[in-house]
Formats: sequence, C-alpha cells, structure tokens
Amino acid sequence: MISKRIERTVIRNTNVVELLENLDVSYKRYGDEVRIVCPFHRNANGYNLSINVKKRVFCCFSNGCEKNGYNLVDLVMRIMKTDDRERTVRYMASLANLEIDLLCRNIMKYSYKNKKGLLSFKDSTLSFIREFRTVEEEGEYVVYQESQIREWHNALLESKYPLRYLTEERKLTEWDIENFYLGFDPEEKDIIFPVYSTEGKLKAVVRRTLSEEKAEYFGKYKVIGAKSECLYGLYEAQGADYDLNKIILVEGVFDAIALHRMGYTAVALLGTSISKYQLKMLYELSPAEIILCLDNDSCKGDDENSGKNGVLRIINQFSKAGFNLDEISVIQLDGYQDPDEVPEKEFRRIYENRMPAIDFYLTQQIR
Ligand SMILES: [Zn+2]
Repeated sequence: MISKRIERTVIRNTNVVELLENLDVSYKRYGDEVRIVCPFHRNANGYNLSINVKKRVFCCFSNGCEKNGYNLVDLVMRIMKTDDRERTVRYMASLANLEIDLLCRNIMKYSYKNKKGLLSFKDSTLSFIREFRTVEEEGEYVVYQESQIREWHNALLESKYPLRYLTEERKLTEWDIENFYLGFDPEEKDIIFPVYSTEGKLKAVVRRTLSEEKAEYFGKYKVIGAKSECLYGLYEAQGADYDLNKIILVEGVFDAIALHRMGYTAVALLGTSISKYQLKMLYELSPAEIILCLDNDSCKGDDENSGKNGVLRIINQFSKAGFNLDEISVIQLDGYQDPDEVPEKEFRRIYENRMPAIDFYLTQQIR
C-alpha cells in the first residue's frame, strides 16, 4: 500500500490542468480555479466542482454532495471509476515525472538520463486510462457512431445559420467543411468536429455550441471521448499527403483547419496541455521539426503551478520525453489571439520568423 506521505508528494507535484487533459475531463478555467462536472454526486449536470490548481484542493457547490474529506487521488479514482488506489497514485506519479519503487517505500524523480525518454514509459502508465475507460464505455459513456457523424454532416449542409457562422464568421471554405467532415447537431445547436485516430477510427467529438446560453454556462467548447489519444487534423493531413516532416501544434480545431487551408500540416492538442499519449504519437512520427503555435495567452502571462507559461511547460514536456530541442520551434502571435485570426500573408511571415525553442526558453527565463 502506498503511504499517505507518498500520496501527498504526488499530489503536491501534480499539475491539475495536465491531469484533467490526460484524463479527457472537460473543464472550465477561471484563473487559479478549474471547474468540472462533479463526479461525486449522481446526475450532476453543471460544472459545480471547483478545484484550486495551486492548492490542489476542491469543493463542490451542490448541497449534500458527499465529497468531504477526499483528496485529488480520490477524485481521479472517482472519475475513472476504479478502486485501485495504488494504480491511480502510480499513474499520477508518472504524470508528474515521479517514480515510486515496487515496495511503495520511496518516491523519486523519474530519471530520463538512464532510461531513454518516452520509449521507456511503462506500459502500465499508458494503459491506465485505456483499461478503465473501457469499463466506462459499457456504462453511460457516450460513444458516437460514424452514422451519427454522417447524419450531422448532412444536417449542417442544410442548415443556414451554422453554415453562415462557419463560412462568414470563421472564414471556412466548402473544402474545409468536407475535408474535416464537420456537422451540426440541430437538437443541441452544436457544430460538430469529429476527431479521428490515424487509422481513421472515430475517437472523440468536439462540440462548439452556437447557443449563447449554453456557452455561458458550460463554455463554448466541449470534447466528448478520448481526445488525449488524438492529434486533431493528423488523420486529415495523412490522407491528403501533407508534409509530415514539419508539424505545427495548435490548441483548437479552428486553428488546425485554418492552417491546413494554407497548406501547413497543423494538428490541434484540443487544449492547452499535451498528453503523454500525444507526445508518444509525435515521438513515433518523428518529424524533422515541431512548431508550437499556441494561442497568445498561452505564450505570455503566468501559468498556475509550474510558475511558467503554457509554451514553456510544453517545451519542458518535450525535453523530458526525450525529444531533441533543436527540432522544436515557437511561433509567437503578436497582436493576435488565435492562429486562425491571422491573415494568410501575415501568418506566412510570422511562420518564417519562428524562433528555436531554446531561444524562446532563454528569453522567457531572462524576463
Ligand atoms: Zn458534488
């Protein structure tokens, strides 16, 4: 059994946002607070569990919720619907780059020098999510069928308002809509972005609501499914013979689509953090260059736990996973918030002026 002392060390080193992204939990972020749908009470339908990312404690706003006295490990166990505490702590430790010995006596920093980066990731770590997710899929977990995606796609082509939103407001072309097979769910008033694995298997669905009311309450975007196992746009790029030697990493679906249209191979993380699985996929693709092009607020400003911003955190993750930093560069979007807002000519200029990750790292350390 793992002691409470070790458990506390793991929790203290946990990056809450990274953890939620790896577990495919939808969340809303407000400064130091993230909110998720509470897994401790039945039929929770709002984002009523609030987690403080600095203190790594949480509370639920619902009356009579049974969450009292629980820590972050309990939360993960509840989310994954498992009672295997040791496995959960070991999983969380590996996310925090810590290692617990087999006898559960000691905890130490994972040594990347002796073991070669991601290749040495224990299978147990990567399979943790899969194993427990399979259990979940049999229950209430929503898994969409390809036929549903087709139905939504056809609905989009017949719906004026969402089409106008996509083509006029977001400047998408008919080709984009076909290529990424976008859809519209008329009942929920959501634009649908299917997310495929590199083998073409439907893994997740991104919903972008057009209902102001829903956006206000739940946020504009919601991802359902195993988004941490996908890089949005990779499947589409493979199919269209894009150059997989230079891959641009972006945050959102619209960013990936916009850059694809310009001819770049862009894949979206579907969040501000990169999962271990996404790192592994990139490691296996081994492109000559990976270009980070995150939203502007991820490049600047201060980020919660690590005290570093989103781009620095991702550079760190690449480094720890055994990537060569010479092969990573950074695009900074001065004057724009998202990549998809930047006019093509301007983007090409910014792209050509991208900065080696090492240089970006140094300029951020000096500031
Ligand atoms: Zn609750």
